[in-house]
Order: sequence, then structure tokens, then C-alpha cells
Amino acid sequence: MKVLVIGGGGREHALVWKLSQSSRVTKLFCAPGNAGISKIAECLNIKADDISVLVNFAKYEGIDLTVVGPEAPLTAGIADVFIKEKRRIFGPDASGAQLEGSKVFAKELMLKYGIPTAEYKMFTSYLHAEEYVRLKGAPLVIKADGLAAGKGVIIAETADEAINALKLIMKEKAFGSAGNRVVVEQCLKGEEASFMVLTDGKTVVPLAASQDHKTIFDNDKGPNTGGMGAYSPTPVITDQLEKDIMHSIIKPLINGMFKEKINYRGVIYAGLMICKGKPYVLEFNCRFGDPEAQPVLMRLDSDLFDALKATAYGQLKNIKISWKDTASVCVVLASKGYPGSYEKGDIIKGLDVLNNKKDLMVFHSGTGTKNGEFVTSGGRVLGVTALGKSIKDAKKSAYEAIEKIHFSGMQYRKDIGDKAIRKTVVSSKQ
Ligand code: AMP
Repeated sequence: MKVLVIGGGGREHALVWKLSQSSRVTKLFCAPGNAGISKIAECLNIKADDISVLVNFAKYEGIDLTVVGPEAPLTAGIADVFIKEKRRIFGPDASGAQLEGSKVFAKELMLKYGIPTAEYKMFTSYLHAEEYVRLKGAPLVIKADGLAAGKGVIIAETADEAINALKLIMKEKAFGSAGNRVVVEQCLKGEEASFMVLTDGKTVVPLAASQDHKTIFDNDKGPNTGGMGAYSPTPVITDQLEKDIMHSIIKPLINGMFKEKINYRGVIYAGLMICKGKPYVLEFNCRFGDPEAQPVLMRLDSDLFDALKATAYGQLKNIKISWKDTASVCVVLASKGYPGSYEKGDIIKGLDVLNNKKDLMVFHSGTGTKNGEFVTSGGRVLGVTALGKSIKDAKKSAYEAIEKIHFSGMQYRKDIGDKAIRKTVVSSKQ
């Protein structure tokens, strides 16, 4: 079977790596891919959002399954175009991708189908939004409706901060038309966790739970990033809580989408806040999380191709997936300056030492090559992902591997996994 993966980050490297282990997969392409992906797949010089070129490639190359990594092509309707051309694709159509593409759509759907989430109001008028903020008082969360590269959510600790956020989004149009509508939301306090499922619109298969680290600095300090690390499993999501999430969030969502005539085939990612033991939805994404995909796919024991193909074909009921009985930790190495502006083209040293190291993968996020050497080409550069008997062991292996890697200005968090380790220590003492 020929498979095309769309995207070029750490998530796509993890997808390509896991797909390459399937005996069913005979040829792997990635568009556009990156320097790490090019070692295991043929990378194509096609951008992830160049839908017409991608569908033509899939047609003429006879691609059996296309797997979409990032959200932008999904919200732009790549699956609709592929389906029209009778090409199989893993990822929801534009109607399903609104779950991520429009916060207003997601909130309205949750309200309609009784899915627990923060109380909110939607505004198209700046003055009305400002009035509401003054009435409500802080803390509040201000969210641009549309896609804003992970930057459209602002947690305001004071009313002034909330009003500044409204000005930024609605008046200064910092995120363009993504800010035409704004959600002003109650600020929830609790513990965050990510929960992903595969669904073909009828059957739901939960994936191993994970937790990411959004801010740039240790102890959750500093500005938000695309994600500086993640681990799986997470002690926050117990078996009982998983049942709760399936019952109160995932099942009503799938039923709701069915009633709305949305035929969803892909991943649903629920970003959750666990408040006093109860799960609330902060956001839905319509694709695998990045970096979460890296530790989660490292732990997947069964064949990823079979699961993704069955999802795309509406046959997920025939699939059972299994997980390694290990934990996994992914630490992201980023360029100096990230998440602000950063330099590119710095030589990355030490990766060859880590090749073929058991239970360790260095997934590439933003890399290229120059004169035969790997160089940085993005804000997030590498995702060093290790397996271990426990989160503590996996963390140790990941950080030992990082000591071998170097590029100018390399920055990373030192505390990935610590929350889980602290929790495990507490619970083993109880
Ligand atoms: P989102 O893109 O909606 O997940 O928001 C990004 C981050 O903002 C989340 O991972 C949370 O840390 C935070 N966040 C979003 N909504 C809320 C909320 N209602 N209460 C508290 N924190 C939130």
C-alpha cells in the first residue's frame, strides 16, 4: 500500500516512523516532510496546504491512504476534495474540522449536546465584549474564534488584561479574520490533560492519554508555545476518569456530530481541564497533538496503518489497538528566541550517536540539511522521545540523550514529566 503523510513536523515524523513499521506499507511519501522524515520516506516539494497539487499527486501516484497531520489543510477542506476524487483520506472534512477551526462552533455544539465546558459568551462587537468583561470581572479567558497558530487564547488575570486582549483580537486584528468573533470564557482551575480518540463517526477507539507542556519555561512560566514536551500515560487520567470522559464528552460529541450530519473520520483531540475530579473541555483539535503524538505513538504496539485505514474506510469496529506497558517522555529542543523570532540554519551535532539507540527516537520538527549536515529550520527543532519502565526512567533516558545533542542557542525545559513523577510519588506513599 502507498501512503502519503501531509505535514512536516515532529507529529508527522512520528506518524511516518510508525507507519513505516507496517508490513502493509510498501511506499511512504511525505509532503513536505523534513530532514529527519527524508530518511524513511520520500519527501515531496509540495506545501501541506497546496490541496489541488496534493490530490493530483495522490491520483497519479495511486496513493491508497493519505494521512493529514496539521489542522490548516483540514479546515480548508482537503478531505472534501480527496473524497470527491474518490481518494481515501484520514482526517475530517471541513464540516468536522470546524471543531478546531471555530471556537464558536465547538462551544455551540458542546452547549447543544450537554458536553461539560467553561461558561462562555460569544461577541462580534468589541463594545459589547468590553461591557461584558467589566460586568464579569477577571479572571477570564479571551479566545479568537478562528485558527491563530496557537496564539489566539489569552488568559487574563485582570479586567484590564482581558480588555487589552479584546483590543488586540477585535480592533488591531492581530489574528486577522480569526478575530471577527470572540469567545469570552470562564477561567477554569484544575489539572490539564489531553485525550485523543480515533473515530470513523460511529466507533470510537481511545488512544493512550498524555499531557503536554505549553509554556516555554520550567514550572509552566513564560509565553505559550506549540508545545515544549509531553509524556504518556498521565496519572491525571485514571481508568475511572477515562470512563467519565468517554461517557460525558466523547460519546455525546460523536452522537451530536452524527445528528448534525457530520461524518467525522479522523482523530479528535480533547484538551481537558480536570476540576475536582470532573473533566471539562477547553478545546477540541481535529488532528493528533504535537508533541503528544510523539510519546503516544512510541507506546503504540499495534499497527498504525491498519487503524488509520480502518478509520478512513469507516471500519474502525474491526480494530483493536494495544499499547506497550511502558511510559514515554518527549522533550522538545527549540531554537533560541522561540516562541518569538529565531534564527535558522544552525548546525545540529550529535544525532548520529543516537541512531539505532533502543527505546529512543529523535523526531525532527524543524530541520533541514546543508552540506550534508542537519541544520535548524524551525522554532521547535527536535523532539527527543524515550521509552522507560516509568515516566521517571523515560525522563532520565530522554535527558541523557539530549546531553549528546547540540546546536547554537538550543533551549529546552528541564521539567518534562515532573508533574507525573510528583503525583506517582505521592500516590505510592498513600
Ligand atoms: P486552547 O487552545 O483553547 O486549548 O487554549 C490554550 C491553553 O489555554 C490551554 O491549554 C489552557 O492552558 C488555557 N485555557 C484555555 N481555556 C481555558 C479556560 N477556560 N480556563 C483556563 N485555562 C484555559
